[in-house]
Amino acid sequence: MPSDSPAPATAPTVVEPEPVLSIVSPCYNERGGLAELHRRLTAVCKSLALTYEIVLVDDGSRDGTGDEIRRLAEADPHVRGVLLSRNFGHQAAVSAGYDHARGQAVVVLDADLQHPPELIPEFVARWRGGCDVVYAYREGITPRLGYRVHNWLCDVKIPAEAADFRLLDRKVVDALRSLPERRRFVRGLVAWLGFRQVGIPYRQADRFAGTPAYTLRQHLRIRLDSVLNFSTAPLRLSVYLGLVTLLLGGLYAAYIIGTLVFVGRDAIPSGWPALIITVLILGGVQLVCLGMVAEYVGRTYEEVKRRPSYVVRELVGRGAGSEAPRP
Ligand code: UDP
Ligand code: MG
Repeated sequence: MPSDSPAPATAPTVVEPEPVLSIVSPCYNERGGLAELHRRLTAVCKSLALTYEIVLVDDGSRDGTGDEIRRLAEADPHVRGVLLSRNFGHQAAVSAGYDHARGQAVVVLDADLQHPPELIPEFVARWRGGCDVVYAYREGITPRLGYRVHNWLCDVKIPAEAADFRLLDRKVVDALRSLPERRRFVRGLVAWLGFRQVGIPYRQADRFAGTPAYTLRQHLRIRLDSVLNFSTAPLRLSVYLGLVTLLLGGLYAAYIIGTLVFVGRDAIPSGWPALIITVLILGGVQLVCLGMVAEYVGRTYEEVKRRPSYVVRELVGRGAGSEAPRP
């Protein structure tokens, strides 16, 4: 060993005990509500009398959410922050939270307090009772169309109106993290994983502060992800569509020929409208099918690039350098 190498550190390294419970919250422009979220989460965790950590993921907010997380982490050693380098979207932020949570059980809830933290003790009770996945579902509302389409087309069913508000046991978190997919629809992946799952109903509260961050485009994108990432049924659909069009075209051709043979040339409807309609329908069907194939090809391309689903800019809080090891 060269003599000028630094002497081995003599200060005892403080080994952080792994917390029992990790609470993860993705935050996008949630500065106004974070203090209240922290207050309510702390009250709940203290009442549970177990070791815990709160992992706040800043998904590239523009309103100073990152600074607010830093302030909370300085004041409370239970708080850790994962600040992403830009806005990667809710699902990526949740994935980042799972990657950085160290607890034996990991609860994810929205930062806007629409998911009542007071439900967490019930999650923990079910978990201690032997459940691996405890998810909350919204009570008393009819499942949205998106869910019904998903469950109709896909083999992996998502419980109706399951929210992104759930507790996962460590072994489920590790299984989830070991899935190689980059474009993540976490709700579907959790359903796909299986394990012992139980749902508990909850009533969704109003947003505490700020405005909904999800745009219509993001909602559409997630609905598409929910079906296309879990089913190839739309590909099959394009085949059916093609077959039906062929059949209709065949029938029409038979009708024309029949008329020509049995009634005579004059009875044939003038060709122009029929021609245009046929061309339009065929063109439309072809474009739809091509678009469907393109969606899958695009997704394959995205996955093949193997880019990470998020990039971390900075970690704040105690033991900030450590990420849970990849399973
Ligand atoms: N969120 C995020 N990144 C985004 C959009 C949303 O991390 O790009 C977070 C947001 O801060 C909130 C949660 O995801 O904690 C749910 O978002 P929102 O309340 O806008 O969705 P909604 O309640 O309308 O489903
Ligand atoms: Mg919300």
